[in-house]
Amino acid sequence: MTPSNGYRTVSDRRFLGVVVPSVFLQEEGIDAVLDALESVQASAVCLSPTTSVVQAEGEGVRFPDLHVDGHQRVLERRIAGRDQLYLVSSLAYTPEAALYRAGPYMPPSGVSSSEAAPQSIVHDAATSARARGMTVHLQLNPLMPPGLRTEDLPVAVDESHPRAPQVARLGCINNPDVNAYAAALAADTLRAFDMLDGLVIDWAEFPAYRLDELTTCFCAHCAETARVAGIDWPRVKGDVHAVWDRLHTLSSHDLARVRRAVGSASGLLELLALYPGLVDFVRFKALSVEAFFQSMARVVRSSARPSVGLTARGWAPPWNRVSGFDVRRLAQICDAVAPKLFSFDYAAIPRWYGQPLREWNPALPEDELIRTLLACMDLIETPSRTVLEDFQIPRPDEKHPVDSAAYRRRIAELLDQVSGRSACHPIAHAYGPLHDWEETLRTLARTDVDGIWVQMYGYLGDEKLRVLADTWK
Ligand SMILES: [Zn+2]
Repeated sequence: MTPSNGYRTVSDRRFLGVVVPSVFLQEEGIDAVLDALESVQASAVCLSPTTSVVQAEGEGVRFPDLHVDGHQRVLERRIAGRDQLYLVSSLAYTPEAALYRAGPYMPPSGVSSSEAAPQSIVHDAATSARARGMTVHLQLNPLMPPGLRTEDLPVAVDESHPRAPQVARLGCINNPDVNAYAAALAADTLRAFDMLDGLVIDWAEFPAYRLDELTTCFCAHCAETARVAGIDWPRVKGDVHAVWDRLHTLSSHDLARVRRAVGSASGLLELLALYPGLVDFVRFKALSVEAFFQSMARVVRSSARPSVGLTARGWAPPWNRVSGFDVRRLAQICDAVAPKLFSFDYAAIPRWYGQPLREWNPALPEDELIRTLLACMDLIETPSRTVLEDFQIPRPDEKHPVDSAAYRRRIAELLDQVSGRSACHPIAHAYGPLHDWEETLRTLARTDVDGIWVQMYGYLGDEKLRVLADTWK
């Protein structure tokens, strides 16, 4: 479909957006970055409302981010001659503190003002991109307020909070204090950047990188949300707890049963009939995320720029079922949904899920456990990955464990769920070998998606830019 707010260009070439962290605007200059985007005929750019200053090693945050243990992941476009470095980021605008007074969370105190990181650079880049005919989007992380309190973190079924290190440390999506910050952040951003075409909302879902995260959230706010929705919360909690306990006593036979359920409607129905609360848990997560995006849409509609588009960025199938990122619901609220097709993740997630299962069930054959995890995640088996330790975030030249058939299945599922109610713009991740990148783009080009986002400029070396220009039509 063609949304009304200009998400598709006048040439009707399919949407192509590129995520550009500010540090590249600072390093290469606004014009050089926008020239590169024009060379691939990008129709949109996604910026961050921050700027960054390079630090000594170990001070600040590693860039690209570690993603728990991705020490091998490095940039293709170097910054200050380096393919990995440490940054401290600060806001690229002066926040309006009064907007945040509905809750305890305030915006970050630091505002960029140095020569290396001028406050105006994001504003200037946005204005220049629009002058070149691109739509301009800003990415926000609304569930990550500065100084997130422990009591506002999600609560797992065993009453614990997710442990560090995490890929993203999120507040609970049903927590009113976190939501007050989220609404203030969106309103503040719309106020500070009056040329925006869209907001891209990231990490607004339940966490799903690890097994314990899948059992969140059982905080008091989530219990109340479930009660209002008429969900039998004690049954949900009882069944999630029963499955959690069962995962501590697995046998080979159980693994075979799970693999059979993955491929058989009858087997799957049997499991769900045993634990009916799981279905309500999935539904509860989806309606929680839906309510959050409805609140974001209200902020946009009540702003001075009510036509600003909303893009929901989140997990792809099958993880979106357990993260609550139900694109069928979100497509009715947002202008676009942008599921993350991050194939480098597929190389590590089986280990992140599998390690605790192995610790709880040391007698389980490791190869059977791996086969079961891969079946549940619709990932291919690769001969080079036979033990959990083999599942790591890949080196830059290492092939990702993806086959195009599984990729197409994920896209088909997404398109069915979106069903034309919004634009569907999956996010293709550019990290990895050139051949993988070309395959990914070719596969996506053959589907009916409305366009793609590319994550991110720092992984787009000159050859990858050329492939993007040649392949994405
Ligand atoms: Zn909660």
